[in-house]
Amino acid sequence: MSRDWLEGTKPEYDIVVIGSGLAGLTCANMLARNNRSVLLLEQHHQLGGLAAWFKRKGGHIFDVSLHGFPVGMIKTCRKYWTPEIANMIVQLKGIRFDNPQFSFTTTFDRDDFTRILQERFKIPRDNIENFFNVARDMNFYDDQTMTVRELFEKYFPGRDDVVRMLMEPIAYANGSTLDEPAITYGIVFSNFMSKGVYTVRGGTDKFIGAMQAELLKNGADVRTRCLVEKVIVENGRVAGVVTNGKAIKCKAVVSNGNLLSTIFKLVGAKYFSESFVEKAKAIRLNNSSCQVYIGIKKGERIDYIGDLLFTSVAEKFDSVKLRSKNITSRTFSIYYPETRPESDMYSIVASTNANYEDWANLSEQEYHDSKKELIESTMAALEKYIPGVRDKIDYVEAATPKTFQRYTLHECGASFGTKFEGLKISMGLPEEIRGLFHTGSVGIIMSGWLGAANYGVITSNNVDKYLTP
Ligand SMILES: Cc1cc2nc3c(=O)[nH]c(=O)nc-3n(C[C@H](O)[C@H](O)[C@H](O)COP(=O)(O)OP(=O)(O)OC[C@H]3O[C@@H](n4cnc5c(N)ncnc54)[C@H](O)[C@@H]3O)c2cc1C
Repeated sequence: MSRDWLEGTKPEYDIVVIGSGLAGLTCANMLARNNRSVLLLEQHHQLGGLAAWFKRKGGHIFDVSLHGFPVGMIKTCRKYWTPEIANMIVQLKGIRFDNPQFSFTTTFDRDDFTRILQERFKIPRDNIENFFNVARDMNFYDDQTMTVRELFEKYFPGRDDVVRMLMEPIAYANGSTLDEPAITYGIVFSNFMSKGVYTVRGGTDKFIGAMQAELLKNGADVRTRCLVEKVIVENGRVAGVVTNGKAIKCKAVVSNGNLLSTIFKLVGAKYFSESFVEKAKAIRLNNSSCQVYIGIKKGERIDYIGDLLFTSVAEKFDSVKLRSKNITSRTFSIYYPETRPESDMYSIVASTNANYEDWANLSEQEYHDSKKELIESTMAALEKYIPGVRDKIDYVEAATPKTFQRYTLHECGASFGTKFEGLKISMGLPEEIRGLFHTGSVGIIMSGWLGAANYGVITSNNVDKYLTP
């Protein structure tokens, strides 16, 4: 008989959190800390969602989304998790760009970007300062009609090289394009510019493991391998969930699953007003990703070539090309043994943005061949930066949008949630159904490790208010 992953659960909780991405985890932790009874249900066998890692033979361990996040994650972890978790976060200093328009290494912060823009791109200091200040002061309540394209045109007219330097890393980080509202760019870019790019010493496994321990310490009931099939709604309010075929009652539900799946699959359109459903149907998902995981043989070493390499052979920044199956741009994350101080091994993860539809409809043979081609072209691209690297590799594997869909249940394998319009709908759920909340990557601003964790805090405050008589 198969194991009952729900054994010992209570018949009723204050809150059920569906999904254990960084938003779901952080939301659950805040609520548990406030003495609410919390049941966290995750369909996968490990917590973390896209903050994922996996082990392979030969002693390899790969991080899926640990390329870098802004310094704000330290404060978020200290305040809403523990000082020990915050102390695992360290800066990455070698961020390298290499494309037909420019090639340099930077610490990816305001001072260094100002220097590069002045010295290399010959932009007057006043323009640079004005641009940084405007981007930094943008907030959610600002004018949302100006696009990123218009913002760049205002401060750096006709400079597609400057646009590439400022935009390409952000497009990798959250799938945004020049046609998004400028505020989404301003907020995310300024978060990075404040002090550069950060990572976790110890790896994603240690980080999520520490969060899991803290959640349990705070009294949350945490269950993996528990797929939520349905949110039960009665008389306009949430009454419980059905998970692995079992009904569990609760006063509030926080879904960390994909926003569209939450509305249309877990709850059902008939429970929402017609106008809300129309707006929800119009939400655009963000793109997906491909990755190649490359394991260096135990005992082999590679020289330091930088931590994060934004590489491209495309003549100019082009968000359509950036997602194309015919890959021209790749981000390489090089994990040196310092990432996991107890290990002496190296690994490399190559990431590209991708369109779900380019991969979803291939025959089995075509899919297999395309993955092989993805691996082959990535190895060839890597050879440029680490000559002879093929001889040092003893493990390689690829992930596609279908892989991301399978492991997270995100519609179309969306890597960064939804476009901007998703945020309003995500925040509007409780006005439609009492006790129903969403948290997780939406609206570009709330995506990434920092955005997702911070949205978890915002949602936990809203849930707490709802439950307080
Ligand atoms: C390839 C790649 C690289 C990235 N690199 C970076 C990076 O370097 N820096 C950065 O800041 N961000 C990065 N990101 C983005 C970042 O990982 C995500 O934005 C963030 O981790 C998402 O967190 P989340 O809370 O939205 O939920 P997710 O991580 O999407 O997790 C949702 C969880 O809900 C679970 N779930 C869904 N439906 C159900 C259900 N019905 N029942 C039970 N469980 C369910 C899923 O299994 C999953 O665990 C990257 C993303 C990808 C794909």
